[in-house]
Amino acid sequence: MRSGNDSAADAPGRSPRPEGDQETRPRPGIRFFPGAETVAPPRYRGRFAPSPSGPLHFGSLVTAMASFADARAQAGIWQVRIEDLDRARERPGAAAAILRTLEAFGFEWDGAVRYQSRRLPIYAEALAALETGDFVFPCACSRREIAQLGSPGPEGPVYPGTCREGLAPGRGGRTLRLRAPQAPIGFRDRIQGEIVQDIAKEVGDFVLRRADGIPAYQLAVVVDDAWQEINQVVRGADLMASTPRQILVQQALGLPTPGYAHIPLVRDGQGRKLSKSEAAAPVAAGDPRPALLRAWAFLGQVPLAGPPTTPAEFWAQAIERWDPGLVPAHDRGANDRPSRA
Ligand code: GLU
Repeated sequence: MRSGNDSAADAPGRSPRPEGDQETRPRPGIRFFPGAETVAPPRYRGRFAPSPSGPLHFGSLVTAMASFADARAQAGIWQVRIEDLDRARERPGAAAAILRTLEAFGFEWDGAVRYQSRRLPIYAEALAALETGDFVFPCACSRREIAQLGSPGPEGPVYPGTCREGLAPGRGGRTLRLRAPQAPIGFRDRIQGEIVQDIAKEVGDFVLRRADGIPAYQLAVVVDDAWQEINQVVRGADLMASTPRQILVQQALGLPTPGYAHIPLVRDGQGRKLSKSEAAAPVAAGDPRPALLRAWAFLGQVPLAGPPTTPAEFWAQAIERWDPGLVPAHDRGANDRPSRA
């Protein structure tokens, strides 16, 4: 098991001190104190990466708020990436609507919005590198075959390893799968604590290129977080179980592992994740302030000094007060009081 990094100084993705940094090199006649040789921690780089499968709802507002406030409270960079690889799940106009809502709610992102659909050759390159290193193998199995043979796992049937040692004669590869290692993978989440997963037992070898040729989320997210030099990922707790898989892909591609903070999910009255339920109404188009204040309370943060008159005023106060240590670990309803238990 391997622990993640929980302090800024330890954050991965830090670039080594430039070669030409003459100032900190020992020079003749000068006593050099190793303790004085400090390396500035890397600048915080975070992101919000919505899928355009619908408008921004309260659950995604909570996630966006946590990642934005966390980045800005550390004078960090915050980027927006539209994860639009799955065209079948995309709702026309949803990406533009999400961006408009973010703007109306006072979010400000750095640089251009990135779109995964424009980066297909990059994912193909990453897959080719994984094929060269023998990290992936072609798999001929259909969903139904896996359901018949796989033992039940938390995310559905565990891949039974059918094609791991080669395709059966006469069968062609439909997907590309990454070989799951026998050892568990762990990381330290800033909100959820230590998380360990035995991928081989709980998921099995997992898909990196789908049968329709589309790069799987687990691949694209890793490639793009590295490309955007993201060193802190703050996102919904529904993706926590994906993180060990992403760490594995990072390791296979020789990419750094960012820090992770998984925000509790907003549940509806039936305990369903908000986005999957009917309660996932878009956040109100009119005055953003009530929703901003509700999201702030959901995140367990101390109330603002006074009611903000504009979203900009909300953010000025919020960024100053943001305390990730107050974010409760557990999922709950939109209006339930946070509990730290
Ligand atoms: N696109 C994913 C979603 O909307 C989020 C991916 C991530 O933050 O890693 O649920």
